[in-house]
Amino acid sequence: MSVLENITSQDAIALENKHGAHNYHPLPVVLSKGDGVHVWDVEGKKYYDFLSAYSAVNQGHCHPKIVGAMVAQAQTLTLTSRAFYNDWLGRFEKYATETFHFDKLLPMNTGAEAVETALKVCRKWAYEKKGIPENEAQIIVCENNFHGRTTTIISFSNDPVARKNFGPFTKGFIKIEYDNLEALKTALRDNANVAGFLVEPIQGEAGVHVPSPGYLKAAKQLCEEHNVLFIADEVQTGIARTGRLLATCGDCSCADKHCSGTPEVKPDILILGKALSGGAYPVSAVLANDPIMGVIGPGNHGSTFGGNPVAAAVGMAALEVVKEEQLAENADRLGQLFRSELNAFIPHSRLVKSVRGRGLLNAILINDTEDSSTAWDICMALKENGLLAKPTHGNIIRFAPPLVMTREQLLECVAIIKRTLQEME
Ligand SMILES: *Cc1c(COP(=O)(O)O)cnc(C)c1O
Repeated sequence: MSVLENITSQDAIALENKHGAHNYHPLPVVLSKGDGVHVWDVEGKKYYDFLSAYSAVNQGHCHPKIVGAMVAQAQTLTLTSRAFYNDWLGRFEKYATETFHFDKLLPMNTGAEAVETALKVCRKWAYEKKGIPENEAQIIVCENNFHGRTTTIISFSNDPVARKNFGPFTKGFIKIEYDNLEALKTALRDNANVAGFLVEPIQGEAGVHVPSPGYLKAAKQLCEEHNVLFIADEVQTGIARTGRLLATCGDCSCADKHCSGTPEVKPDILILGKALSGGAYPVSAVLANDPIMGVIGPGNHGSTFGGNPVAAAVGMAALEVVKEEQLAENADRLGQLFRSELNAFIPHSRLVKSVRGRGLLNAILINDTEDSSTAWDICMALKENGLLAKPTHGNIIRFAPPLVMTREQLLECVAIIKRTLQEME
């Protein structure tokens, strides 16, 4: 069979199973088309996408402005490497640094690369600016974190499946409980050589854990007191997903939803990825002000594809769409509606314990054990009813549709979710 012929779902799955490494366990649906909040499988069945490629597709599938920028640039110049300048990178850097209120941006491709970049910047800053003795820098991280899949990043994961038999691990990390200020205080007090605190403003992979109100602000304050860099991994929570441009804007009471400049919770280093391209292309970035990013010089860090002209054009279009279509405001409004609808339903359901989240990053907690198949079975039933979502950590289902959804579409999706859960009671 030619790979160009139409393919059935069954054949596509069989091909992946036979020829691909088994490093994922996908829901058995084979997608071949996407538009806005919808995707279609190879048999033509239409679904609401309630994962959005782990929040990469915030701007909706195949957004015409983003795809337009990508196609135009792909037909003009795709890659120069950073051995030469290109005519798009500076424009993207100006736009992104103005949008997020930082002096400088360092472009990479994937989220994990951006996290690695932030760790390197933080360590170098610690030795050259803070005066930590060579090779002694420590970075505080949180339990149940998810920051990617590289050897260093899994070194400070506590997911046994992600770690087992991948050692030896990178040293220099201190793990504390998430959303626990006392633990942060103790770690900062007991370790003289702390360079940074790496944190997800909401833990997405861990099951959409929203920290207590004021946690981020107080954590930032503690970091300031100890001259420790507050590093926010907003790869999943950033770019309007949580109803603000950034989730670190969460404690801000200013009326401008696009503002990320609240002094209290403004990270020293901001990590972005995923929706920075609207899902069209791998684009990630690390942002920081001059006293921090200034430690990086020629040869210290780089990437062949990082900052390429297609990525820069796509990144700029993706951020413009977020502003032009007021996606943060929409995520805020629809998120409140989603949680209030489900909260009204939960007392009548034996299957769902609770709903939590911010903006359109939400999760329901299933009334069963982590090793049960209930959440998976619910996702299979949702798929039959035209809505795609995936369990995370066994008994939690994350609901994160594209942010271009309308109120009518959201209510239709809520109806699908309620009906599916009722069918399974
Ligand atoms: C997805 C994710 C990453 C890793 O991004 P990749 O592009 O998969 O490398 C890092 N941090 C967070 C919070 C993420 O959600």
